[in-house]
Amino acid sequence: MTEFTIAIIPGDGIGIEVMEEALKVLKVLEEHEQDFVLTMEEFPWNSDYYVANGRMMPENGLETLQAFDAILFGAIGDARVPDDVTVWELIMPIRKRFQQYVNFRPVKSLPGIKSPLASGDDIDFVIFRENAEGEYSDSGGRMFDSQASELAIQNTVMTRGGIERIAIAACDYAVKNGKKKLTSATKSNAVIHAMKLWDEHVKRVVAEGYPGLELESAYIDALVAYFVQRPQTFEVVVASNLFGDILSDLGSGIVGGLGLSPSANINPEKKYPSMFEPVHGSAPDIAGKGIANPIAQIWSAALLLEHLGREDLSIIIIKAIEKVLIEGEVKTADIGGSATTKQMGSAIAEKIKEQYVTGEMGSLMHETN
Ligand code: ATP
Repeated sequence: MTEFTIAIIPGDGIGIEVMEEALKVLKVLEEHEQDFVLTMEEFPWNSDYYVANGRMMPENGLETLQAFDAILFGAIGDARVPDDVTVWELIMPIRKRFQQYVNFRPVKSLPGIKSPLASGDDIDFVIFRENAEGEYSDSGGRMFDSQASELAIQNTVMTRGGIERIAIAACDYAVKNGKKKLTSATKSNAVIHAMKLWDEHVKRVVAEGYPGLELESAYIDALVAYFVQRPQTFEVVVASNLFGDILSDLGSGIVGGLGLSPSANINPEKKYPSMFEPVHGSAPDIAGKGIANPIAQIWSAALLLEHLGREDLSIIIIKAIEKVLIEGEVKTADIGGSATTKQMGSAIAEKIKEQYVTGEMGSLMHETN
């Protein structure tokens, strides 16, 4: 019997809409699997909560979350609350307190989805973004407000330990998945302190522990061009917080858009809960219309199950997504169709049910091993 406790934070805007579909899919799995029980608790920590309470989550919010095996997050962001408040009072505390120092983002061509790139087929790589330090630090400050001499200092914090652990996580993944090359994003020709430290320790980790792995080090400005020109040549990309953030939205763009891109904020030691969320935000422009693509959220739930040791169930979800896309009858507007969020979620849920009815599960389970 596998039993997991999952904290659900739908957030704002389309986060709420796409989360409903992910929960629909998880419930179908629960109904069909004998030995699989999820205890889910939903937390209304979003911009409404902020407007009512003056904070994004209760004072003991992190302690509450720590009791769960994992967190499934939707998206956050609303015009009533400054973006830095939603990010720094909800997402960042969760990532930092729970040492979710790996942000894992798969970049994979999906069947039936056309890449905007002329040669955009068969893209399949992953990005390991450092998620706990680097450029996204609250170290710094502002002086001389509203005066001609007004200034701001924003410090990047790179530590040997922080670089080492993200490099190890990326290398471990590469070796486990039979990958041959690690690409490191850098800018050590201009950012001469922080990025030189990055280069040195990524290089050391590979040399000391993973001699079979080829290390390609690329300046970030060149790397964004390579993502467009030769995306098929990447296997595992490791990047600092800011570079990884930018690269993963670009990665999402070259395989069909934000509605399809999941992400995982992982504490590899499993000492704390990890958090799974779509790459996209709350998309105020389409929120409330019921047309958001729920695939990124549903795929994030698949990553959650994989992290908790149920890779078999994760594969079932991904196969169902692929089947719906191959058939091409149900597609949301972002990928060229007119289906609603609910129709897309239901189509995926139905495909999962079909897999159980046709007994396809046996072969899927076999593929996992
Ligand atoms: P954030 O700063 O939080 O990332 P944002 O509004 O800048 O928020 P997104 O919310 O990610 O960025 O949206 C960017 C664009 O992509 C918007 O036009 C939005 O409608 C579209 N988009 C994002 N997610 C989806 C989705 N799941 N389905 C369809 N379109 C989406």
